[in-house]
Amino acid sequence: MEITITKTKVLKPKPDDSKLGFGSIFTDHMLNVDYEPEKGWHNPRIEPYAPFEMDPATMVLHYGQAVFEGLKAYRTASGSVQLFRAKDNFTRLNQSSRSLCIPEIDEAFLMDSLKQLLEIEKDWIPKAPGTSLYVRPTIIATDPYLGVRASNTYRYFVILSPVGAYYAAGFNPVKIWVTKSHVRAVRGGVGEAKTPANYAASLYAGEQATKSGYAQVLWLDGVEQKYIEEVGSMNIFFVIDDEITTPMLNGSILPGITRNSVLALAKHWGMKVSERKITIDEVMQAHESGKLQEIFGSGTAAVISPVGEMKYGDKVITVSDGKVGPIANKLFKTIQDIQYGKAEDPMSWIETV
Ligand SMILES: *Cc1c(COP(=O)(O)O)cnc(C)c1O
Repeated sequence: MEITITKTKVLKPKPDDSKLGFGSIFTDHMLNVDYEPEKGWHNPRIEPYAPFEMDPATMVLHYGQAVFEGLKAYRTASGSVQLFRAKDNFTRLNQSSRSLCIPEIDEAFLMDSLKQLLEIEKDWIPKAPGTSLYVRPTIIATDPYLGVRASNTYRYFVILSPVGAYYAAGFNPVKIWVTKSHVRAVRGGVGEAKTPANYAASLYAGEQATKSGYAQVLWLDGVEQKYIEEVGSMNIFFVIDDEITTPMLNGSILPGITRNSVLALAKHWGMKVSERKITIDEVMQAHESGKLQEIFGSGTAAVISPVGEMKYGDKVITVSDGKVGPIANKLFKTIQDIQYGKAEDPMSWIETV
């Protein structure tokens, strides 16, 4: 598919690298592609970043049929631009689409069109340490129709946002809260798809956690509320008795690319690694017997988010003396160094733009 390019006449002023936050500044251009049953995915175009005009009956607004991805473009010390495991993001986008009855898109096209967009927007990729250009590919259902069914038409779009260093205030641990009253997802639902519904479902418990001074919610399984699933919108890891363990993918856990990277690196380093069912009771017991060494979350935004404190019922436990544990620290540093081209890339995760 040939991409039509229309450039904006007036470029926006670029923000100062030191003042970047997350997700509120957008670049000059975006990518749009449409889907119609007769034409398939068609009319790919890079055009000025602009609001959508849509019918109030547009299906995505009512029934939430949408999927998205989140990845980053990094600027290396030499000025080149690289993506981290972007292929895996596009494979996962299509997996999410299948769960939501959205037509798949050719993965080579997804990669090529992103690279073309990045080529046009490369001056937006910030240079300061820890900063990056966040990439948000999204697909929405666009039929103007109030009946409940899968839409016939869709829009794929990609927007870009320069973002600041996640740990601008230092690489510090967070406090997490185990909720017993809410669940994020259930097996057989859409928990393993990157779809807005999962985020909507997480907001209420998230607000409760924030009000009590906790940064993230630790989610238990939706059936027995016994097994650990995820933390906030990150995957979760425990270091127990020198073993790195994470909940196995069970249909309600999002298959994180950072999660996969942590597992691959830990194995590569010869550490003991497992993916299995982990109960909250096992974690509390491991803490009591002194075997719980670390807890950390993993995701594209933070890379690694160490946990210093966890509240479950009336119990509050301190993890790694409330500091960043050595394994979380090594993983964070290694993954970040690969992303910014400062370390060797033993698994060929880097895609140059
Ligand atoms: C995106 C996401 C993650 C993390 O996935 P990465 O590919 O590592 O960024 C974890 N959990 C949920 C619910 C997510 O949406």
